[in-house]
Amino acid sequence: MDFALNEEQIAYRESARQFMEKALRPFAADWDANSTFPVETLRQAGELGFCGLYTPESMGGLGLSRLDASLIFEVLAQGCTSTTAFLTIHNMATWMVASWGQDAIRDEWCESLASGEKLASYCLTEPNAGSDAASIKTSARRDGDGDDADYILNGSKAFISGAGSTDALVLMARTGVDGPKGISCFLVPADFPGVSFGRNEAKMGWKSQPTRQVNLEDVRLPVRYRIGAEGEGFAIAMRGLDGGRINIASCSLGTAQAALDHTLGYVQERKQFGKEIASFQNTQFKLADMATELVAARQMVRLAAWKLDQDDADKSAFCAMAKRIATDLCFTVCNDALQLHGGYGYISEYPLERYVRDARVHQILEGTNEIMRVIIARRLLSDAPFVLE
Ligand SMILES: Cc1cc2nc3c(=O)[nH]c(=O)nc-3n(C[C@H](O)[C@H](O)[C@H](O)COP(=O)(O)OP(=O)(O)OC[C@H]3O[C@@H](n4cnc5c(N)ncnc54)[C@H](O)[C@@H]3O)c2cc1C
Repeated sequence: MDFALNEEQIAYRESARQFMEKALRPFAADWDANSTFPVETLRQAGELGFCGLYTPESMGGLGLSRLDASLIFEVLAQGCTSTTAFLTIHNMATWMVASWGQDAIRDEWCESLASGEKLASYCLTEPNAGSDAASIKTSARRDGDGDDADYILNGSKAFISGAGSTDALVLMARTGVDGPKGISCFLVPADFPGVSFGRNEAKMGWKSQPTRQVNLEDVRLPVRYRIGAEGEGFAIAMRGLDGGRINIASCSLGTAQAALDHTLGYVQERKQFGKEIASFQNTQFKLADMATELVAARQMVRLAAWKLDQDDADKSAFCAMAKRIATDLCFTVCNDALQLHGGYGYISEYPLERYVRDARVHQILEGTNEIMRVIIARRLLSDAPFVLE
């Protein structure tokens, strides 16, 4: 067993670090304050391959492993959690199109998505279907037969990251029976007639990316825009989310690392009662716990990413475990870092309050951490053996 990164991984991380320090970290506070979606910066990230990290090379991506992608997202998130989190969603949606799209759609979209020239959103959640995603009601009614058929889409999607500013909507809609087996996946071009968007939701964090409702009113979509077979959409959505959960967990790791780094500097400068606050045992114990929790979370994320790369039978449960533990522990690390900054942690001149606001939503989206427990418990209680290592 070798826990060291290989030379390639070290090189990828170094290029991510240079980009993060130059193009993300200096601007993150401003993007947050002004709710700016930095599309140009995302395009620059695309030039380095960061928009198609695990999309196959034949489709314009870098063809990296999930573990490699996790290492890169972690570094990028040290500069801007919110922008990196959008990048992870774009990567997930791009990979779904590349993996299950029909040839005509892959040819039309994959290169431009992988290069960042075009951006994608992932559309599963509906106003009345969040955790119970298999109960979605958005309909895709087939009109006609064979290759000339169209789907007519009607319904609404809620909380869609990037919506209104992205070009492709990778969207789950019902083509058949109730439940997961009646769901299909589609690429809906955002400028098709009948697609409209709600207001940019005011929210606690993740302010450098818009979150909007997507409305579909009699959207006529040629059959070639279906991703995968009819009825396969829910399985495809969940396959996307396995990796998505590793990615979001990696964003939490990067944010917690940035919070810890900032705190290590601060506690050795700030003096109270005539000495550095780093000299108080409480500060030292807090720092020790923060570092321990960060490393524990990181190892779990890397293990789950490796399981996903191996196509392990228990990959989904491990991805759920990693997402649960990393987003919970890293939120605590960010919050403890804020506490160690005292009042300065609470004001926006310092990045701590932004780290806390941005990391909080990771416990909610891509499946809440309660739903992660549902997935893990279901696997534990199934008849098949579950090897926990
Ligand atoms: C900023 C932001 C961006 C988002 N981006 C996207 C996106 O790009 N694409 C997309 O499709 N979705 C997106 N989402 C939606 C997100 O995935 C959902 O909010 C999430 O899945 C929870 O659904 P819900 O909000 O409807 O909560 P609900 O499902 O209503 O849950 C409410 C509470 O009940 C708990 N709960 C529900 N069911 C159970 C159960 N069986 N057992 C125990 N507890 C349960 C939940 O854990 C939660 O605490 C985004 C959300 C936010 C806030």
